[in-house]
Amino acid sequence: MAQKCNLVIDPKSGFCKSNSVFYSKRKTPAHPLNHSLDVTTFISSRAHHGKIAFVDASTGRHLTFPDLWLAVDSVATCLSEMGVKKGQVIFLLSPNSIFFPVVCLAVMSLGAVITTTNPLNTNREIAKQITDSKPVLAFTTRELVPKLAGSNLRIVLLDEQSIPTVQNARIVGSLEEMLKKHPSGTRVRERVNQDDTATLLYSSGTTGASKGVVGSHKSLIAMVQIVLSRFNLDEGDQRMICTVPMFHIYGLAVFALALLASGTTVVILSKYEMHDMLSAIEKYRVTYLPLVPPILVALVNSADQIRTKYNLSSLQSVLSGGAPLSKEVIEGFVERYPTVTIRQGYGLTESSGVGASTDSLEESRRYGTAGLLSSGMEAKIVSPETGEALPVNRPGELWLRGPTIMTGYFNNAEATASTLDSEGWLKTGDICYIDDDGFIFVVDRLKELIKYKGYQVPPAELEALLLAHPEISDAAVIPFPDKEAGQCPMAYVVRKAGSNLSDRAVMDFVTGQVAPYKRIRRVAFIDSIPKNPSGKILRKDLIQLATSKL
Ligand code: AMP
Repeated sequence: MAQKCNLVIDPKSGFCKSNSVFYSKRKTPAHPLNHSLDVTTFISSRAHHGKIAFVDASTGRHLTFPDLWLAVDSVATCLSEMGVKKGQVIFLLSPNSIFFPVVCLAVMSLGAVITTTNPLNTNREIAKQITDSKPVLAFTTRELVPKLAGSNLRIVLLDEQSIPTVQNARIVGSLEEMLKKHPSGTRVRERVNQDDTATLLYSSGTTGASKGVVGSHKSLIAMVQIVLSRFNLDEGDQRMICTVPMFHIYGLAVFALALLASGTTVVILSKYEMHDMLSAIEKYRVTYLPLVPPILVALVNSADQIRTKYNLSSLQSVLSGGAPLSKEVIEGFVERYPTVTIRQGYGLTESSGVGASTDSLEESRRYGTAGLLSSGMEAKIVSPETGEALPVNRPGELWLRGPTIMTGYFNNAEATASTLDSEGWLKTGDICYIDDDGFIFVVDRLKELIKYKGYQVPPAELEALLLAHPEISDAAVIPFPDKEAGQCPMAYVVRKAGSNLSDRAVMDFVTGQVAPYKRIRRVAFIDSIPKNPSGKILRKDLIQLATSKL
């Protein structure tokens, strides 16, 4: 039942709350009113003549803003001629590149849907996503073609001039050929509405295996506006370096979409490597460095060598997101890089990457906070035990509501209903509290999810694999704290009677079947997996058992 709302505004901090809902105190940008609007048109309506939009750090190849929009129109024209229609799904399997955003923007301009995946994923993991999302076409690189073997998908190569013949692959075109195409002059072929689906990114949410998160044009437009309002990017010549993967909402939202609307130049690394990143910062005089906590940890640990070898004087801010950042690491960073501001961001794939952030030097000094609610967002802190909305300074599950929240999980009414309630609240699965001034602190995770170096590892997926082993009768996978990676997957295994299965054998069994970031890195054997009366694994008990000796 909705609680009676007594709105209170703190005169000093401006934080606005009722007895059950917390409101963002950031200024809300006006959402475009025209219902018929796609995110590509929205972003391209901001002109940035002559400036460089994307530059490849290793080759120096670049696209100016006019080049970029011409490329988007050429690719959209080709896709349209190939019969791609509104609502159809296009699969993008690629490392970061200057053409990653081109493909996404072209697809979405047609009202078609882009689904991305981690290039490290195995054939089995990719086949699963293809079966679920049912794409009509794929874009990939020559090297990654074998990962689509057996899919029978039509493939466009991102990095070849000509069209090679590859066994077991239906290669029908190359991006370079598409870029030569004269655009037809009309970007939008079919009426695209803000409520139409634009993206299908995969996330395990609070429980179970990976699911397609349905993102609309509306949620992406709102996300772009929030990112823009977060930085004063229109001021001066800003350059950001993209170290995070564009297949993930963090990279896609910030680098492939939002920054385009601000005229920021993005320096792209095809994959993260510390030396390449630092050299590129020096070479391109990068001002903003968005990253995930493990990279920040490495910057702190090797600060002395880094500062003598590289000139990082252009750097103004690092932006950390995707996983928790400890107070010690923040303090270590502030001490070693005193001229660089450190800012945090919190979000989920299900909220288009947006949730909370620290946007100023003053805000970022409140160490340990994930920041203030993003503009237009509302929050509740709900007791997992009683379902009651809690007041400030009390930890409970964070629920978020606002324009960036997903439409739901693709073809999965059950998972949608358990994650989004009838009033539009997204249950984040994160245990947080909100302080008197409206700052959010993430203190624990209620959901099963493990984050290894910022990558999602769904325990349910690993448990299903373990249960298929002939000598394993039961298993549970939990997060184990790791200084470098944040967390790593640990398995508790119940061996079948008479089995002498070793921890190495368990790890090797899983390693062959999953992407490297999902590998099980610790194993313990146990007599039985603790479960509640309805059979749900008591993960907290196992986490406590695993960490009690630390
Ligand atoms: P993903 O959907 O892969 O972006 O994962 C979202 C999850 O990552 C959140 O629900 C949190 O558990 C975690 N996360 C993201 N950002 C932060 C942050 N700044 N602090 C703590 N946890 C975070």
